[in-house]
Amino acid sequence: MAADRKKAEGCGIIHVSDIASLAWCQCKALAVLNGDYEPPETDEMAKGRQIHEQLGFNNQQAYRMPFGDFILEGTPDKVGDFYIAELKVTRGRYPLNYLLAYAHVQANLYAMLADKPLYVVVVYNVETGEKMYFPEKADVFRAQRDLALAYALMSGVLKPIPTREPWKCRSCGYTKCVFRLAEYEAGK
Ligand code: SF4
Repeated sequence: MAADRKKAEGCGIIHVSDIASLAWCQCKALAVLNGDYEPPETDEMAKGRQIHEQLGFNNQQAYRMPFGDFILEGTPDKVGDFYIAELKVTRGRYPLNYLLAYAHVQANLYAMLADKPLYVVVVYNVETGEKMYFPEKADVFRAQRDLALAYALMSGVLKPIPTREPWKCRSCGYTKCVFRLAEYEAGK
């Protein structure tokens, strides 16, 4: 099993951002979690990091906790006395609800790791300069549920559900995914 191989290779750290990608597509997230696929670095990602730096969302302190046979690790963008903050940079063309679905899972897990009662997702639109704030009370049960889903997928107890969104598959870099082929062959 890929998860066993990853452990055997000494890569026992699981990143919060990888678990959060379950909100995008379980098949892709599982490939990343198992070490079968590593998303390439893009120019957009490099620009996004610059903006994080400029806006002060540049915390470097990582938080860790045991996660089954692994270590869960996450580095929130900003850490305050009672909250963590997660910045998402957008050009406004990506649907906000998809961006938020991912961001809330991620920020809630960071809040649990950093033991903070609140989190806020900040969405910054580089085209308009607009900033939107989405504060939430941290929910440890939701975090545990998300972790349990990731663990069940990684251990093979559950099968991953592929996204049914062809536009996601078109932009997906996980070229070995059999579900993407099915989508295209069906002409959807
Ligand atoms: S090709 Fe589609 S179904 Fe497959 S991992 Fe990518 S987004 Fe998911």
